[in-house]
Amino acid sequence: MALARHQVALLVLPAAPEVSAERVRAAWTRLSADGFVDGHLPGARSVLVEGTFRRALLDLPAAGAEEPPVRMVANRLGGFRVACPTCRVNLAAPFTAAVGPWRAARGPRAVTCPSCRAERPLEAVDAMPPVGFARGWIAFEEADALELHAEAHALLVASLGGVHLVLRRG
Ligand SMILES: [Zn+2]
Repeated sequence: MALARHQVALLVLPAAPEVSAERVRAAWTRLSADGFVDGHLPGARSVLVEGTFRRALLDLPAAGAEEPPVRMVANRLGGFRVACPTCRVNLAAPFTAAVGPWRAARGPRAVTCPSCRAERPLEAVDAMPPVGFARGWIAFEEADALELHAEAHALLVASLGGVHLVLRRG
């Protein structure tokens, strides 16, 4: 899918939110070592299936003794839809109600569907556009495409144990 270049960042998160910051850092190091990025700029090998990006960033808190917390990242524009993956009921209200307490460390990273009563991790709902949960991620700012080149995808999957892509505007 080609995009107009409007302040769109393609974020690459580990598929599992609890993956360590160290593994995200190691994935970034490999992108550089294998020529996918050159500093913060595109490297000799393509990261995206189509076009390029303006700037690559490792979005992680400064290295410290403690593992950084899991954060949520989402598209910053409206039109967000969340559904129960089992019964398709709209979960926007319970999802939003659960995010606040979780972020304040006063609640679990989970939401209960009011229809089927299933409790799931917040990352397990069907969200459009996708949201993500991770300790850190790699951002490709002003990306021309939403898909990773097969070689870059394979490297990131191997480094992170699976990837989850989130589009962020602004
Ligand atoms: Zn349900």
